[in-house]
Amino acid sequence: MPQIIWTNDANGKPNFFNERWYKYSGLDFKDSIGLGWEAIVHADDAASSRELWQKALSTGTIFDAEYRLRCHDGNYCWFIGRNVPLKDDNGRITGWFGSATDIEELKKAEESLRLSEELNRIALLSAEMGAWDWDVTQGTLEANEQYFQLLGAMAEPGKKSLDFFLKFLHTDDYQRVHDELKKAIEEGIYHSEFRIVRADNQQVKWMNVYARAVANENNAATRMIGVMYDITARKKMEQQKDDFIGIASHELKTPLTSIKIYAQLLCEIFKEKNDAMGVGYMQKLDGQVDRITELVGRLLDTAKLAEGQLTLEVQQFDMNELIERQLKDLQHLSRPHDLVFKPGKLEKVNADKERIGQVITNFISNAVKYSPKGGEVLITSEDVEGGIKVSVRDVGMGIPPELQEKVFDRFFRVSNPGVKTFPGMGIGLYIAQNIITRHKGSIGVESKVGEGSEFYFFLPYDSK
Ligand code: ADP
Repeated sequence: MPQIIWTNDANGKPNFFNERWYKYSGLDFKDSIGLGWEAIVHADDAASSRELWQKALSTGTIFDAEYRLRCHDGNYCWFIGRNVPLKDDNGRITGWFGSATDIEELKKAEESLRLSEELNRIALLSAEMGAWDWDVTQGTLEANEQYFQLLGAMAEPGKKSLDFFLKFLHTDDYQRVHDELKKAIEEGIYHSEFRIVRADNQQVKWMNVYARAVANENNAATRMIGVMYDITARKKMEQQKDDFIGIASHELKTPLTSIKIYAQLLCEIFKEKNDAMGVGYMQKLDGQVDRITELVGRLLDTAKLAEGQLTLEVQQFDMNELIERQLKDLQHLSRPHDLVFKPGKLEKVNADKERIGQVITNFISNAVKYSPKGGEVLITSEDVEGGIKVSVRDVGMGIPPELQEKVFDRFFRVSNPGVKTFPGMGIGLYIAQNIITRHKGSIGVESKVGEGSEFYFFLPYDSK
């Protein structure tokens, strides 16, 4: 947009305006030379601008001001105005050169920045979130008032050392958070849950932190900004839920064992009486009891995992033999599927055979469950750098990329309308991941929606 330009005589009286002025103001020459910009300046800006102009005139210095000017359509826009004295060789003022630049866009940007900062502040306040800004190169951290409130400490404005904040950490979490922060700088992202000890009442509180690195122009992460909020209530509820699952599944085990024994006893009685129908029903009942026992076992595992009580019974075994055995047990699952096993040449492995078998079963039954149209389920084992990689590939529905890591979370199930029809609790992979990481191995998935998934784990030959 071209600038508005005008000139004044030595006394400050306007005597020329450019085309843009006439277009913008809608005034003609006669009206314009009377008052000049004062004819269309906003009432709220008139007094201050006039004062500045009078001062410039009397001292012969540059006039600078921001004001709104009325457009011919009645709307006002922000301008930055400048009027420079023109002097002759003797320093006498001979006239003035004025210009007004449209700063409406700039003003709008300033306003929306102010609004978004305000919105940000309100959001943090209402969510009781603390916010922090960590200068990684200087090792200093600046935090807002809520952050200090969460720590139960007096707000101290300005930059503090990182150690100032780390000292609030619970001793059991100190080293972990320290290491996580180091890693966060490399990865550019930080998410963690840890305990702090409040300064005012020594209460232990759980905090959740999310942060992102802000890179400079050389793409180096020099700053990290993040938020922190209290999740103590959620943690308490999770604890209660874990306790409940633990107790309930434990209590269910005893009656289930009795039902199984009675079912087997009754089955024998029906056999003696040559009652084929009775035997059939009892075998079905026995099979269903096995299913419930397996589910209860899984629930008990999650409870044990939450309490860190899942123990491993390590022994030496042949992985290929184990896979064969699991496959035999699973044959009944897979009528429309082709379960194909391609074993690799492996050494014997030291691990918890039952638990690893559980992981393989989970992979294969998921592969069958989530490929409802059937197709090949390919199981492979191979020797890779000091360990074994086992993978199970299906040609089923696949998993969207953003959910692939989440399937290993507790109680997570991909929620699309199709998946809801497959029964499950979303804990199989959670337990599998825990079993594998306990063995110092790793677990993962590669998948494409509509094409299939490949779940795999790596297990070191010796995890001790
Ligand atoms: P569950 O099968 O009992 O729901 P899992 O923990 O074994 O629990 O699996 C978690 C979720 O991961 C499943 O609900 C499903 O959405 C997804 N998933 C697992 N395996 C596959 C697979 N082979 N193909 C597609 N989705 C899968």
